[in-house]
Amino acid sequence: MTAGNPARSCDVCGDCQGTGWTVVVGKGARLCVCPLGEAIRSKRIVAARELPVNTPPRMFERFRIETMLPDPARHEKQVELLALLKTNPRRSVVMFGANSFGVGKSAIGWALYNSAVQAGRQAAGGKLSSFVRMMQAWEIDGVEPVVRPSDLRLWDCGLLWLDEFGKVKPSEFATRQVFDLIDVAYEEQQQIVVATNLSRDELKEFWDSQGTQYGEAIRRRLFDRSDVIAVDFGEENA
Ligand SMILES: [Zn+2]
Repeated sequence: MTAGNPARSCDVCGDCQGTGWTVVVGKGARLCVCPLGEAIRSKRIVAARELPVNTPPRMFERFRIETMLPDPARHEKQVELLALLKTNPRRSVVMFGANSFGVGKSAIGWALYNSAVQAGRQAAGGKLSSFVRMMQAWEIDGVEPVVRPSDLRLWDCGLLWLDEFGKVKPSEFATRQVFDLIDVAYEEQQQIVVATNLSRDELKEFWDSQGTQYGEAIRRRLFDRSDVIAVDFGEENA
């Protein structure tokens, strides 16, 4: 590497040809040590740390299961789900369905997250894509994840909340970590809350197609459980 001179703006880094990436034979793409590579790296680090652990994103911080009042005429299923969750906010939940305008699957997920945090329980939550990004930054850039699968072993009645749980194509490493996260949460009987815009069949199909190693195993841990409340918000007017 020709490290050193900060290049003039019209110069192109000789190592990465101005892309920020270099290829190390046998190891694949690596971020360059030049300013452009560093800029890409710091963006990825910020992205990898955005996943909320024990603090909800600002826009969801006021959401509470007790104070959500969906219209029973229009949102019958939400009313039923919220009634179940008011009596036991520690139930695991899977919320399906793309026909979700105004049904607030995310809002319900964050409300459960807030309930957990308020009760002094550990909670990690966010979009599946954020978890994947965090795991990839761990793999590629060595960025310490804000939550790693083994952390969930130490939780006492914690909550893992996965929003926009759908079709993703993470690296083998990230897939393994996401699987481990779900596996540990399941083994340790932590509460797992999942929301997806896919239908129940689409989701089953997708995870089954990932092979028995992860797909079926993830599906079984999330959906094929006697203690999980599964609600399909996609059926109503579809
Ligand atoms: Zn460079």
